[in-house]
Amino acid sequence: MNQQNIRNFAIIAHVDHGKSTLADRLLEITNTVPKEKMREQFLDQNPISRKRGITIKLAPVRMEYEFQISNVKSQISNDGDEAHPKELEIGNWKLEISSSKYILNLIDTPGHVDFSYEVSRTLAACEGAILLVDATQGIQAQTVAHYKEAAKQKLVIIPVINKIDLESAQTEAVAKDMVDFFGFKKEDILYISAKTGENVSLLIEEIIKRIPSPSGQKEKPLRCLIFDALYDEFRGVVAYIRVVDGEVKKNENVKFYQNNIVSEVVDLGYFSPFLVSGESLTAGEIGYIITGIKDIRLARVGDTITISKIKNQKSKITPLPGYKLPKPMVFFGAYPKNSNDFPTLKKALAKLTLNDTALTFQEEYSSYFGSGFSIGFLGLLHAEIVKERLRQEFGLDVLLTMPQVLYEKRSDPTTGSGQGIWEPYMKLFVYTPQQYIGSIMNVCQSKKGTLLDISYHGNSVVITFELPYSMFIRGLSSELKSVSNGFASIDYEISNYKEADLTKLEVRVNDTPIDILSELVYKDEGIRVARGKTLRLKNFLPRQQFRQIIQGVIDRKIVSKEEIPPFRKDVLQKMSGGDRRRKDKLLDKQKKGKSRLLSHAKISIPQEALLSMIEGS
Ligand code: GDP
Ligand code: MG
Repeated sequence: MNQQNIRNFAIIAHVDHGKSTLADRLLEITNTVPKEKMREQFLDQNPISRKRGITIKLAPVRMEYEFQISNVKSQISNDGDEAHPKELEIGNWKLEISSSKYILNLIDTPGHVDFSYEVSRTLAACEGAILLVDATQGIQAQTVAHYKEAAKQKLVIIPVINKIDLESAQTEAVAKDMVDFFGFKKEDILYISAKTGENVSLLIEEIIKRIPSPSGQKEKPLRCLIFDALYDEFRGVVAYIRVVDGEVKKNENVKFYQNNIVSEVVDLGYFSPFLVSGESLTAGEIGYIITGIKDIRLARVGDTITISKIKNQKSKITPLPGYKLPKPMVFFGAYPKNSNDFPTLKKALAKLTLNDTALTFQEEYSSYFGSGFSIGFLGLLHAEIVKERLRQEFGLDVLLTMPQVLYEKRSDPTTGSGQGIWEPYMKLFVYTPQQYIGSIMNVCQSKKGTLLDISYHGNSVVITFELPYSMFIRGLSSELKSVSNGFASIDYEISNYKEADLTKLEVRVNDTPIDILSELVYKDEGIRVARGKTLRLKNFLPRQQFRQIIQGVIDRKIVSKEEIPPFRKDVLQKMSGGDRRRKDKLLDKQKKGKSRLLSHAKISIPQEALLSMIEGS
C-alpha cells in the first residue's frame, strides 16, 4: 500500500464518552466487520472489559475506505491513469478528482491512568488522534490528560463532540469550552452520534484530510515500535508494532533492541481486528509480528525491533525514544481465602504474568492467613482486574490486604547521609465546576497536598496538586467525588519521589502482634491512625472467655488502647439469698480462673474480623 494513503490514529476520551461505540461505527462503515457479526463494543473482546464497560486492553484494527476527493486546481496537467488523480475542466473550474483507497489504522486505547504507558506508546505509533467529548458531560479530567499527552507527541488532534442525539446534549456550551480550553477553532469541531452513526462518515473523511500520512522511510534500516504485546500459548509472543522505518519480511531475522535478542520472523500481518497473515510490513504500517520469542519480557512495550546485523558503522541504529520498564506502584498482600488454594494461586499468578509484564509477585507469610503473596500492580484498577481474573479464570477467592505504595530506601541526595524511606508523589489534576474549589482544596490540603496550579476556564477550573500517591490508594478519589457531588473528575501522574517521615504502626491483641494489620504510617498521623484502628478492631472482635486488650504500638510505645471485657458467667445465678461470704468466695475463684486463662490464652482472631478490618479500610 502506498504510504501516502495510510492514516494511523487513536481515539482518546474520558471514560464513557463513547470511544468503543465510535470504533463500532467505523468498523461498520468501512465494512471491516460484516453486519451479521457485529456486536456492541466489538474491539473489546476481553470479558472483564465487556462486563464492566471499560476498555482495559488496547485493540488495533485496520480498515479500508474508498474516498473521493475533488480539489479545485489552478492548472491542468492531464497525465493521470486509472489509479491516480485525473484532472477535469468543468466550466470555469479545473478540478482534480481522485478516488483512492485508504488504509485507516485505528487503535482503541484504555483511558485509565493505570495503563497510561501503553497509551503513550500507542500515541507514539500514530500521527493523529480523535479527541472525543460527550455532549452531555463536557470536558472531564481524562479529556485534559489525554489531550496533553497527544499534544506533547505532536499529533494532529481532531476535536469531536459525541452523543448529539441525546436530548440533554449541551452541544453549543461544550463546543465553546473546547475552544476556550484547548484553543481549537470552532469550525474544526465535528458533531457526531456514535450511536446512530450521524456524521461518522464525515469524520472519516476529515481523518483522511487532516491527519498526515506517516513519514517514515522504507529505504532506511528497519525500526519498529512495539506498542503492545501478548502471549499466545501456541504461537508465543505476538508483538503489536508500528513500522517507523524500513521493511520487515517473513523469515528474516530481527533484533529486539533492549534485550539484544535476535529471532526469526515466523509470521507477520495486520489486524482485521483478528490477525491476518501477510508477507511484509513497511514504513508507516501497523501490524503484528511473531518470532521465536516465548517470553513476553523479551519483547517489551516501547522497545524497538530492528535489523539483526548492522552492515557498517554508518548505519548505526538509534532506538525509538520513550522506552520505559513498567513499574508496579501498588502492593497488596494476597491470600487465598481457602488455604488449600495456595498452590493454585501460585500457578495462576505465574500464568497471568505470561501476559502481563507489569504484574510482579513474591511469596509472603502471615501468621493469620498463612502462605500468600505480595503482589505488585500498576494501580488500583489493575489490582481489581487481576483479582477478578483470578476469580473468573481460576475460581480463586483471594483476599487482598491493605495496599501499600512502592517505598524506596534511599540516602539523602544533598548530604549523602542516612537511609531514609522515600515515597512516590503524584501530580493530581482535578477538573471541577468552580463552586467546589474550596472543598476540594480542603481535602487535598488535609492530605499533605501542595497547590501547584489553578486555571479557570469559563465555569470550570483545573486544580493541580502535588501529594503523596499513598493518599490516592487510600480513597482520595471517592472523597473528592463526594465533596463535589460527583462533579469533579480526576487524573494523575506519578511525578517524583520524596523522603517520607514514616514509622511502623503495630497492632497487638493481648501482646501478640497481628502482622496483617501493621503498616507504615506518617509520624504526625500515627496516633490518630492507631486510635482509629484499635477502636475499629474492638468493634469487630467477638467477646471471649478472657479479657482482650487491643493496643496500637509505635516505636515500642503504646499510643492507643481498647479493651473488650470477657463474658461474665453468672456464677452467683444458682444462689438464692445472700450469704455474703460464699458469694465473695465464688467471685474470687472466678477471678483467679480468668487470670489463668488470660495468661495462657493463645489469642484467636476470627478471620471474619480481620477481613472486615481489611476490606473496609
Ligand atoms: P468508552 O468508555 O469511551 O469506550 O465509551 P463507550 O463506547 O463504552 O460508551 C459509553 C456509553 O455511552 C455506552 O452505553 C454507549 O452506548 C453510550 N454512547 C456512546 N456513544 C453514544 C452516542 O452517540 N449517543 C448515545 N445516546 N449514547 C452513546
Ligand atoms: Mg471503551
